[in-house]
Amino acid sequence: MKRFFLLLMVFSITATCFAQKTYIWCGILIDGISEEPRKNMTIIIEKDKITSLENGFSNPGANDKTIDLKTKTVTPGWIDMHVHVETETKKGNVADKFIQNPADVAFESIKYMNVTLMAGFTTVRDLGGSGVNISLRNAINKGLVIGPRIYTAGKSIATTGGHADPTNGYRKDLMGDPGPKEGVINGPDEAYHAVRQRYKEGSDMIKITATGGVLSQAKDGANAQFTEEEVKAIVLAAKDYGFKVAAHAHGAEGIKRAVRGGVSSIEHGTFMDDEGMKLMKQYGTWYVPTITAGKSTADSAKIPGYYTDIVTPKALATGPQIQKTFAKAYKEGVKIAFGTDAGVYKHGMNWLEFTYMIEAGMKPMDAIKSATISAAELLGEKDKLGSIEVNKLADIIAVDGDPLTDSKVFGKVVFVMKGGVVYKQ
Ligand SMILES: [Zn+2]
Repeated sequence: MKRFFLLLMVFSITATCFAQKTYIWCGILIDGISEEPRKNMTIIIEKDKITSLENGFSNPGANDKTIDLKTKTVTPGWIDMHVHVETETKKGNVADKFIQNPADVAFESIKYMNVTLMAGFTTVRDLGGSGVNISLRNAINKGLVIGPRIYTAGKSIATTGGHADPTNGYRKDLMGDPGPKEGVINGPDEAYHAVRQRYKEGSDMIKITATGGVLSQAKDGANAQFTEEEVKAIVLAAKDYGFKVAAHAHGAEGIKRAVRGGVSSIEHGTFMDDEGMKLMKQYGTWYVPTITAGKSTADSAKIPGYYTDIVTPKALATGPQIQKTFAKAYKEGVKIAFGTDAGVYKHGMNWLEFTYMIEAGMKPMDAIKSATISAAELLGEKDKLGSIEVNKLADIIAVDGDPLTDSKVFGKVVFVMKGGVVYKQ
């Protein structure tokens, strides 16, 4: 009999726990899909999902929890579609990869992901690292480390000597000849090998470096580095594994090859020409601008010794152009998803991108959508993420003020919930 009552007690405690709902009272609600904000709303959450949206401030039941954000603006958790979780810029860090063990990288990345989540970014897409990115994603998913949901490309795929060839700029005897396993391909057959290797390692998508890049130890920051056939092979191989392909691309020719080759997004897009923009619209390719990275690398390049001599002129030439290209692409109607290249500048400052996009002429509500529903669509997770709607995951944040009239408000995140769990309040 005693045992029966004990069992009954355990059962009722469990039932109560599961029945507990969280009520969020929102002064202003921007849901990620509507054109206009709504006043005085209640979001109701059970476990990790949004189960109801009600007008006014609804009264919770006796066992429920209330979060009062009546004086705040509530939005879906933001999504940064271009970050590097493993690294962060600092003066003269070119030798880091020779002195850091993977565990050193991992411990640093824990700090980076913590500040990213606290800045209101509940999801990030990591576009290239050494493999620690995959372990970090798993650790966050297991609840061992606090950070945003990570979707990662694992190791980027380059061509020999190209941006993201891991031995670029090395002494000849250390240079070796990395291949598909290390993320370097030459020809369509090797493209298949490299994509399958990423699948084996646990990547969520593929990143290629379709042109030269600013921070690699190589001369050209914008030349085309993949043939169109190589891009097509990557995209075809990726399809077999359900992977989308993101293409880093600065120069006009590399951008066009990548778009025609079928990639899902162009990253940076710095020297995109009119034909490139037309192609982007025709193919429905997303543009992820990373204005913050452009501005920040151009600023750092002015500090003597910050970058190596081969990188400095590239940073000065590329950096200031991105915001101009973004302004034009937005006006032309190219699809935009929010991405910053965090790591190239300090993690946790991702919100600056909102201010630069708005400064370049984007409507504040469009800027929010680029970091919510549009980003979720490019990620292929529109059913789960990117808006405050019933059945979506409860990734919800709040800022102190009105981000639609003052872009500095994006830097004032006072509340962060990811998957129904509060991380900042
Ligand atoms: Zn990047």
